[in-house]
Amino acid sequence: MTSGLILNIQRYCIHDGPGIRTTVFLKGCPLHCWWCHNPESRSAQPELRTLESRCIHCGQCREACPLAAEGRAGDPAGCTRCGACAEICPTGARQIVGREMSVGQVLDEVLCDRVFFDESGGGITISGGEPLSQPAFTLDLLRACRDRSLHTAVDTCGFAPAEVLQKCASLASLFLYDLKVLDDDLHRRHTGVSNSLILSNLAMLADIHDNIWIRIPLIPGMNDSVLQLQSAARFVNTLRGVRQVNLLPYHTLGSQKRPGTTGTGVQTALRPDSREAIERAAAIFSDAGLNTIVGG
Ligand code: SF4
Ligand code: SF4
Repeated sequence: MTSGLILNIQRYCIHDGPGIRTTVFLKGCPLHCWWCHNPESRSAQPELRTLESRCIHCGQCREACPLAAEGRAGDPAGCTRCGACAEICPTGARQIVGREMSVGQVLDEVLCDRVFFDESGGGITISGGEPLSQPAFTLDLLRACRDRSLHTAVDTCGFAPAEVLQKCASLASLFLYDLKVLDDDLHRRHTGVSNSLILSNLAMLADIHDNIWIRIPLIPGMNDSVLQLQSAARFVNTLRGVRQVNLLPYHTLGSQKRPGTTGTGVQTALRPDSREAIERAAAIFSDAGLNTIVGG
């Protein structure tokens, strides 16, 4: 059975689509948005991390490491991510981030929450990282969910081959599609990639799928000017399958997780937009006739 690299499976989510949902976060993302709230999801490999605030310096991780026999316990150059240190760590300070799971294993966990889905009109959301970066796994998981009549949402940045998105479109109930900024220079500078594939994929998807929620992170100084927001609203207004726009105000939660992760180098200390600025942004989309919601 197909397996994927999973960052986390989070239950009782209420911001990742309708109803109560279980969100499966896949590991690996082709973008490098510096404001990313899940920087640990960027690498497509399992990673070893130590939460210093939890470490009591007991030394058990070093004793358990197979490299200890060579006098190199914990040497990053020799680490095979075997997980022995994480398993023995008494405080949970040492962790392996990312685990291989089969479609069946993920589905078993998700189906534990079926009663909540049925009660609330919820389902499963496949997120990341970028779910389309593991296309075989995401497609097989979507098929398995369809066979069990589960509502499915795919949360994507849209940076993937068009064929993969087309295959997903025939299986997923809903797309949560991230739109950062229309200006390609800004997009390259702040995410590391051009937006041309993302925009062409979105236009294609909106022609073949009729349940798309556009998610726009409001990043102060990057995409929150009247000009940029109007340009995004005009573009979204041309898309047939879009049902709503979610504006996601910037917050500083992810910044606590950023040290030690790779970024684009343009990160600055930002203050979240004021309530008035967020309301002004929302008005630009509502005035364009779009069903606009602030928040997930
Ligand atoms: S993951 Fe394995 S090899 Fe790497 S430091 Fe821990 S015990 Fe050693
Ligand atoms: S086993 Fe855990 S708590 Fe003990 S030294 Fe290692 S990381 Fe720290």
